[in-house]
Amino acid sequence: TIETYDDITPIRYDGNALSAFISIMRGCNNYCAYCVVPYTRGRERSRNPKTIVSEVKLLIDSGYKEVTLLGQNVNSYLWETDFRFPQLMEQVAKLSPRLRLRFATSHPKDLSDDLLKVMATYPNICKSIHLPAQSGSNAMLQKMNRKYTREWYVERIDAIRKYIPNAAISTDIITGFSGETEADHRDTLSLMEQVGYDYAFMFKYSERSGTFAEKHFKDDVADNVKTRRLEEIIALQRASSHQSNLADVGKTFEVLIEGNSKRSADFYSGRNSQNKVIVFPKTNNIIGDYVQVKVESCTTATLLGKAVE
Ligand code: SF4
Repeated sequence: TIETYDDITPIRYDGNALSAFISIMRGCNNYCAYCVVPYTRGRERSRNPKTIVSEVKLLIDSGYKEVTLLGQNVNSYLWETDFRFPQLMEQVAKLSPRLRLRFATSHPKDLSDDLLKVMATYPNICKSIHLPAQSGSNAMLQKMNRKYTREWYVERIDAIRKYIPNAAISTDIITGFSGETEADHRDTLSLMEQVGYDYAFMFKYSERSGTFAEKHFKDDVADNVKTRRLEEIIALQRASSHQSNLADVGKTFEVLIEGNSKRSADFYSGRNSQNKVIVFPKTNNIIGDYVQVKVESCTTATLLGKAVE
């Protein structure tokens, strides 16, 4: 219920007066073996959609251009008996076509076609999905209690590509979880190759106190092995991110101008719908404007381009 939220401020601002983050739910029911969230934040509780919608309206009226709806597992958002996350996204997306809408995070087991269809329908819902895989090995996924298989995960990736062919897909990877073998590690590398992620957050497993894994499993992969596996994962992802950026050279994207580029005050920096950073020479536009930018070159991390009419 909403009373649960009396102790927190659900809206967080980015400091640039353009982007804000709204918590739509708290807690998590999933009990991944390595994670402490279900113990520290409790069971899932979703917030009243009416409150969320009025918060977004206030942000739009104050000039905000981008809102990210946040939850540990937004796909299990549920208000009363049948108001789910795709409906919430649709209601918020309809408030203003000039408001960019993002969300995080999706648990792969709950990513529905209904959500993908809503994302495909509304141009202002950003074409970017963070879908944490954690591992490409079924043995590891089971031990982590992720509640999906590699095959299920790949089928969800295929569904994203089917409904939203231009979507950017990012992930989280944990290497060196309890009992991880070289074969498990190679499964993770092969999943990464198969999906071709645009971006990834990559971690060495480290035991958290109070988790199922801490109580029941051994943290038994040697640290130098974890480090070497992580390096292999990072190298593969770097190549994949670069490949993804190279594929964008020559394309034109709508960019929300977020500020001056870090490298030069003669350049603006912004992001496209896929959440990629694009840097381009300044135009007459001001921060907060949308501008069409044609990508001319790239680095591993950034697209470089020029504003076009
Ligand atoms: S990793 Fe995410 S889904 Fe799993 S228990 Fe933690 S918060 Fe929940």
